[in-house]
Amino acid sequence: MKLKDIYKNPKKPVLTFEVFPPKTQEGLDNLVKEIERLKKFKPEFISVTYGAGGSTQGRSLQLLERIAKEDKIAVMPHLTCIGSSPESIQKFLDIIKGWGVESILALRGDIPQNIPDYVPESDYFQHASDLVKFTKENSSLDIAVAGFPEIHPEAKDQAEDLKYLKLKVEKGASTVFTQLFFNNDKYFKYLELARKIGVNVPIIPGIWTLTSQLQLKKIFECGAKVPAELLAKFEDPKYSDEDKRNIGVESAIAQVKALVKYGVPGIHLYTLNKAEYVSRVIKNAL
Ligand code: FAD
Repeated sequence: MKLKDIYKNPKKPVLTFEVFPPKTQEGLDNLVKEIERLKKFKPEFISVTYGAGGSTQGRSLQLLERIAKEDKIAVMPHLTCIGSSPESIQKFLDIIKGWGVESILALRGDIPQNIPDYVPESDYFQHASDLVKFTKENSSLDIAVAGFPEIHPEAKDQAEDLKYLKLKVEKGASTVFTQLFFNNDKYFKYLELARKIGVNVPIIPGIWTLTSQLQLKKIFECGAKVPAELLAKFEDPKYSDEDKRNIGVESAIAQVKALVKYGVPGIHLYTLNKAEYVSRVIKNAL
């Protein structure tokens, strides 16, 4: 089903998951088991991340094919464009088309920092809006894009960031998935400002269940803020690792409950390739 149909007046919030391609066969074998556990929640689709500069393309494709063909769950591939040539993007679009994929998450991505000899294939794509335009012109895929309730780290301010969100929608995006956030008020404000400038497509909240202090670095890099009370608990040695996992799960449950009460059309859960914590969130909040 197309994204625009999935999010058109759903009876209850549409549940979707994000996974990433593991680096090893062992990681893949584990993920297969975790997906088996996630399957019982009947997600509408699972999205699969894509490494900066195409660095995980092979592994992303392998995982997408496996979920689509063997788990028989619909997939939404993420696709980044910075540094890629139109030819390699077209090749990716053609491959996934062969598997009946109906939508992608079109992203700019970031120049990879951890590949010292990285050489971009091309400078054809500069922004996600270029990829939206290209995908619209060269495929029949439905297109989602990223949105940042706490402002993209490179943006001058929220008004500028929203202007470019609007451009992505004007070029053909039908749905927005947000960067993780922990304070629902940031999402509500973002929604209000987006509507005010005429962005009227569904904006689906992306929810991260914080389960370890080690995750904080990655979260801060994304530009997301962790509420002071939650952060203090994760930094307090008084709490064991298990206490922290429980605190993070309880926080995500409260967050999702409030979003559902507000009437969001969907909840996109960042699983970090583990079923346990998001399962607890779903059972208690949805
Ligand atoms: P853009 O929309 O291009 O925006 C990037 C910056 O440029 C923003 O500051 C924006 O305001 C500005 N901008 C946009 N258009 C213009 C313009 N025309 N002129 C000037 N400035 C402009 N990364 C991965 O590598 N792989 C993934 O799988 C992945 N999945 C993600 C999933 C979600 C839901 C989210 C929210 C992010 C994901 N990311 C992923 C991270 C993303 O690639 C980075 O945040 C990246 O820095 C920006 O990508 P974008 O698509 O938002 O870019």
